[in-house]
Amino acid sequence: MTDTERQQWDVIVVGAGGAGLRAAIEARARGARTAVLCKSLFGKAHTVMAEGGIAAAMANANPHDTWQTHFRDTLRGGKFLNQWRMAELHAREAPERVWELETWGALFDRTPDGRISQRNFGGHEYPRLAHVGDRTGLELIRTLQQKIVSLQQEDFRTTGDHESGLRVFQECTVTRILKDGFGRVAGVFCYERESGRFFVLQAPAVILATGGIGKSFKVTSNSWEYTGDGHALALLAGAPLVNMEFVQFHPTGMVWPPSVKGILVTESVRGDGGVLRNSEGRRFMFDYVPEVFKEKYAQSEEEADRWYDDPDAGRRPPELLPRDEVARAINAEVKAGRGSPHGGVYLDVSTRMPAEVIRRRLPSMYHQFKELADVDITAEAMEVGPTCHYVMGGVSVDSETAATVGVPGLFAAGEVAGGMHGSNRLGGNSLSDLLVFGRRAGLHAAGYAAGAARSEPGEEAVAAARAEALAPFDGEASGAAAENPYTLHQELQQTMNDLVGIIRRESEMAEALERIARLRERARRLAVEGHRQFNPGWHLALDLRNMLLVGECVARAALARTESRGGHTREDRPRMERAWRSVNLLCRTVDEGGSGGGVRLERVRTEPVRADLLALFEREELAKYLSEEELDAAEAGLE
Ligand code: FAD
Repeated sequence: MTDTERQQWDVIVVGAGGAGLRAAIEARARGARTAVLCKSLFGKAHTVMAEGGIAAAMANANPHDTWQTHFRDTLRGGKFLNQWRMAELHAREAPERVWELETWGALFDRTPDGRISQRNFGGHEYPRLAHVGDRTGLELIRTLQQKIVSLQQEDFRTTGDHESGLRVFQECTVTRILKDGFGRVAGVFCYERESGRFFVLQAPAVILATGGIGKSFKVTSNSWEYTGDGHALALLAGAPLVNMEFVQFHPTGMVWPPSVKGILVTESVRGDGGVLRNSEGRRFMFDYVPEVFKEKYAQSEEEADRWYDDPDAGRRPPELLPRDEVARAINAEVKAGRGSPHGGVYLDVSTRMPAEVIRRRLPSMYHQFKELADVDITAEAMEVGPTCHYVMGGVSVDSETAATVGVPGLFAAGEVAGGMHGSNRLGGNSLSDLLVFGRRAGLHAAGYAAGAARSEPGEEAVAAARAEALAPFDGEASGAAAENPYTLHQELQQTMNDLVGIIRRESEMAEALERIARLRERARRLAVEGHRQFNPGWHLALDLRNMLLVGECVARAALARTESRGGHTREDRPRMERAWRSVNLLCRTVDEGGSGGGVRLERVRTEPVRADLLALFEREELAKYLSEEELDAAEAGLE
């Protein structure tokens, strides 16, 4: 591809994880010529790492499961801040998306009578996660890739060109959304990682499916691709982000050895019977069941253990509380001096299941610990602690169509989109989210593109994107004043980890904002050596713009939300405040279209939950979350 070559498409999908691939399949199936771009190799997206499964109320393992129960669990998990219509669509449509995957060739684990097996996970009332051992994401991506290849073969039969209707541009990074003179999407500006060449793909519709932001934090389960690109691309194009203060710290990441700190230990370990103990051997989660969940969780070890064999004979073990609760409990135990030698707690399956069952149900975990930590999980406990895992906040989207707010032609789906999970995501609800909203984004982007006028991105915008991408080579500074991207990245990660991490304080978040402002200033003097052919230092320099913007969004929103809820825990504001339930915080850039110098916040009211959905809950439970005003309005709606 020549320098700044241009190509025309109908729909461009940025990202080839579960959301991007499902979106691309749908857009192509609706007749849109679709281009998919991804930063890494095709098939290497973060989704591949997903372990535990896909949540869908198929009722295979427990006949009582329904979409309504799934909806309820999702809202409880998100502490009622979820965009309720997304949670409803998600719960209703997830089973169909899983069955569809099976018809496309996915090989799920089976129940003894041959149906798709479903396993327990935190916050889900019934066993709900369809899975393939602990390698579910790999099977999901393999299946979607296979579907894409089959569509390309169909296109070859009709046009003689495999890539006429659907083409994947791998190892290509998008650095800007381009718009026309009317503020509508007109395409994307990208570079090839290997050659460093620039190119422009033009299309009236762009779907962001770029995943999360974990690489802004020091300890994370996330892969190198998670630098918040889609979040920043949306912001810079003028689309706001919603509720960025909500970052999920998964309770169980590896804590040892240091080189693998943060790597995920799947929740399936607890779903399949694993228990958490402190250095005194106490199964401490019984001490941390919060008031809102008291009725739903076991009060004793005996009751909890009965539940694994017969869910009707006892309540769920507290190890299966939503992730935010378990992460905070582990943090508190370590802080109280009851942690393991390497600063975590113990997670034990070895005394709970026979070795061959552990190796069969948790093969990746068995190998992960054996190879990385020389620990045999069939014989000894793992040491685990919280790790930055998932961002609930994201691009603000319309629940039905995945269209962003205020930028015609721009859509977002998957982890990059906000709203669906409220203040805390339940395990398994991401893979189903990718499929449900990936499909919806593809459907609506194709529909939009079919009716949209074709317009060219302005020459000035293309030239500006090119200059911005080249800036690290001819930065303002040289010699001692030059800044190294690796140093800045490290400092940002440390700042986010220490000052906007799992437990937050006002003074620390304010300090984080000051440090981020200084880092942004220093980022103007970023300088990289060498040339544009595969140059990781240059790539990181470009990613830093995104991580700094996203870091500021998280810190600013976290400072503004003066309560604790879900993934946002403040030591100085420990309670969940009902008044905050009806508030969403939107982030916008101060200088829209510029290089992202700063973020401003806007408060908007959440949409009242539809009355028939509220009727799925007991009034006493609603009273824990909703304001009097909301409760009265809900009751009036039901009369
Ligand atoms: P991804 O799969 O990350 O795809 C993002 C894509 O965007 C990639 O192709 C990337 O290259 C591309 N991209 C990014 N930036 C750019 C750019 N600037 N230009 C071009 N391309 C770009 N969830 C569950 O529901 N169940 C589980 O069992 C589960 N297990 C997990 C285990 C681990 C270890 C981790 C880390 C997460 C797990 N999750 C799980 C969460 C889930 O995997 C992710 O939330 C989900 O895969 C995100 O999918 P996505 O399609 O949004 O993004």
